[in-house]
Parts: sequence; structure tokens; C-alpha cells
Amino acid sequence: MGLLAAKTVLVTGVLTESSIAFHVARLAQEQGAQVILTSFGRTMRITEAMARRLPTLAPVVELDVADPAHFEALPDQIRQHASTVDGVVHSIGYAPRAAFDFTTATWADVAPALQISAYSLQPLVAACAPLMPQGGAMVGLTLDASVAWPGYDWMGVAKAAFEATNRYCAQAYGPAGIRCNLVAAGPIRTTAATSIPAFGRFAEWGEHAPLGWDETDPTPTAKSCVALLSDWFPATTGEIVHVDGGFHATGG
Ligand code: NAD
Repeated sequence: MGLLAAKTVLVTGVLTESSIAFHVARLAQEQGAQVILTSFGRTMRITEAMARRLPTLAPVVELDVADPAHFEALPDQIRQHASTVDGVVHSIGYAPRAAFDFTTATWADVAPALQISAYSLQPLVAACAPLMPQGGAMVGLTLDASVAWPGYDWMGVAKAAFEATNRYCAQAYGPAGIRCNLVAAGPIRTTAATSIPAFGRFAEWGEHAPLGWDETDPTPTAKSCVALLSDWFPATTGEIVHVDGGFHATGG
């Protein structure tokens, strides 16, 4: 019996085989879950190709979190594949390049980062809640926003907002039995990460993390997401679990 036996999990954010979400989907299937992926626009075809590389082919439904109509349509799209959902993974991050310059970015640069990387968590939970009559688990991905990272700039601000949004989701959806937690991962070489101009500055993470850190290995992060999706964190919500080799605890 796998950790996610008989569960259905909606996984956003599979773009490439390096995507954290790809490995969450892979491990979720290995642990017995039925997985449904989301993607949007021109990346739909890419995600469909990735879905064929999973242990079991997963359906892909459309969700652009910048489009409110997509949230309205999401429950019916999911119902084409499953009647209920037990877990949802928010693995979405985006900021325009100009948002990675804190002192020059305009509101037009910052607004999409906040909408897509932070605000989107709430409408995602809201859209899935009716499909979770027995409750369930929402898991998101953050990069520890308790400090200011050089070069992370407005994306760091968006992550701080995302972490606050998670706490408010925990408050709002707890009475419905929906647990809302985040994994604060160390740096992992993905498309989103390498588009951060200062990503190279995270290169010394492994030297300072007590357990070490391999930025080419998304599996530890994905395993922790699967654990949070399982029944083994039944009384945990509004939490941020650090999966960073211990970097956060020792101050780097
Ligand atoms: P990734 O590029 O593989 O995934 C980012 C995903 O966001 C992509 O699938 C992309 O299609 C999706 N996305 C962007 N705009 C969207 C929109 N409007 N609607 C729907 N989806 C949209 O990179 P990743 O590193 O796997 O990122 C996943 C999450 O993990 C992000 O929240 C990221 O901030 C977080 N994270 C990453 C790292 C890291 O170092 N890679 C560390 C900590 C946290």
C-alpha cells in the first residue's frame, strides 16, 4: 500500500522533466495516487509530452492562473477524470525579468509576480474545495521568504505574500478539513530557477547546509510534498516545512 493509495492528486506546474512538479507527480503515482496535471497555453503540448514520461499517463487540464475563467472551469475539467480530489499541488512561479531588480521594477513588473506566484494559491484552493468533501491537502512550493536574498527581489516579496496566503488559506479552509502547507525548498536547477538572473549566487548552498544540498536533485523536495499530501500530517496546517539540507537553521 503506497502513501497515497486511492487518492487523486491535482498537480500544477509540470513544464519539463526538471520541474519539481514532475517529480511530485512521479512519486505520487509510485505511491498509488491517480494524478491529474494542469498546464496552460503554449505549454499544454509540452506538459502532455511530460505526462507520457510519468510511470502512468496522466491527463492534462488547462489552468492559466492569471485567467479567472480558468478557475471557474476547473472543477468541471477535473470531473471529466475524477469525481473527487484529495490533494492539490501548487508548483507555479513567475515574475517578469524586470521584477528581479528591486529598485527599478515598476508596479506593472511586480503585479504579475504577485498574482501568479502568490495570489493564485487562494483561487486554486477555492476551485478545488467543492471536490474535496472529505477534506484533503494543499501543498505549495516556496523559497524561504523570511529573509531578503540578493537578486531574488520582487519574487522574494511575492514568496512572502505566498507564505502569508498559505496561512490565510489554512485559516479559511481548515474548517472544511483542508490542510494547507508549503515546502521551502533549497535551490533546484529548473526552468523557473535558472531564469532568475542571480540563481548562481545560490551555488554555495550545499557548502553551508549541514546535510549538504544537491541542486540537481528534486527528489528530496518531491518526497516531502508527497508526505504532506498523505494522511501522515493530519494535524498540520499553515506550516512551512524546510527541505533545504538544514540551511535555514544554521544561517548559511
Ligand atoms: P518550473 O519552471 O519547472 O515550474 C514553474 C511552473 O509555473 C511551470 O510549469 C509554468 O508553466 C508554471 N506557470 C507559470 N505561469 C503560470 C500561469 N500563469 N498559470 C499556470 N502555471 C504557470 O520551475 P520549478 O522550480 O519547478 O518551480 C515550481 C515552484 O517551486 C515555484 O513556485 C518555485 O518558485 C518553487 N521553488 C523553486 C525552487 C528552485 O530552486 N527551483 C526553490 C524553491 C521553490
